[in-house]
Amino acid sequence: MSSPRAGHVVVVGSVNLDISVKVHRLPHPGETVLATSVHRTGGGKGANQAVAAARAGGTATSLIGRVGNDEEGRIMRSLLRHDRLDLRLTTLTDATSGLALVTVDDHAENSIVVAPGANASPVPLSHEDAQVVAQADVLLCQLETPPQLALDAAGHRRPGVPLLLNAAPAMPLPEALWNSIDMLIVNQHEATELTQDTTGTLDHRIAQLLQRTPTVLVTLGKQGSLLATRDQPWLHLPAPAVNAVDTTAAGDTFCGVLAAELANGVTTPNAVATANAAAALAVTRPGAQSSIPDYPEVTAAAL
Ligand code: ADP
Repeated sequence: MSSPRAGHVVVVGSVNLDISVKVHRLPHPGETVLATSVHRTGGGKGANQAVAAARAGGTATSLIGRVGNDEEGRIMRSLLRHDRLDLRLTTLTDATSGLALVTVDDHAENSIVVAPGANASPVPLSHEDAQVVAQADVLLCQLETPPQLALDAAGHRRPGVPLLLNAAPAMPLPEALWNSIDMLIVNQHEATELTQDTTGTLDHRIAQLLQRTPTVLVTLGKQGSLLATRDQPWLHLPAPAVNAVDTTAAGDTFCGVLAAELANGVTTPNAVATANAAAALAVTRPGAQSSIPDYPEVTAAAL
């Protein structure tokens, strides 16, 4: 990489403690299955994406989020200190910390229940947090925190700074937020949810999304991702073939690395290719933040 890697990514999003259990198969409703292992790890889409951006190397990464005044919040602060993050966590006294209950089966399929707690707080950004957003080269948000918070953050960025919105989990968005998004990042399921189009093709859904936002990036699991814009031919960028172990945080790794690459001035197709390589590496390892690779590993894998 010849360009200087000095961009600043600001992530505004969720922070969770993930409690992950490994099972041979996911339980049916009403059924109990025995786990073969239990891990407590850092999670939350905001935190995962910030860790991915920070590990992408050279990039300054700020994480703005909220935790509760409890043990889970303290664990999250200490876990996130291990990464080179500018950590901007506000402790809320009237909420519990976000918690995710993750079950992963032998085929690397997962099912996740999230208790949002402090992540759902409607409190707007503090003055200090708004100042951090004003230093961003790329702003990255998700929907495990209220859409209104992403909109609030978007209002504090400098002119020309892109908002990347990972619309996960998918939900109806306020019109003003649609008008603020520069790049929408969704998986196939989220593309269906956002368009409410269950009968059309993926291309048709993307065309609908492009009426609302200029760039749409759809992640396609092991098939990589599709980069669609209004005025250029759409690009399918394949992911490297890997032995998938746990797909938790694949999308988060993708989003964080993409944001870091864009903040460092990499072109969008090249940034997407690197994000694919990083996310493919993440699925070869168990866990969320523990599975996110660092930049030397990604560039070695992307060769
Ligand atoms: P999400 O995890 O949000 O559901 P995807 O399943 O589409 O999103 O995965 C996000 C990205 O992770 C993909 O675009 C791809 O780069 C990578 N990825 C996911 N699964 C695999 C896999 N089995 N092999 C290689 N890359 C994968």
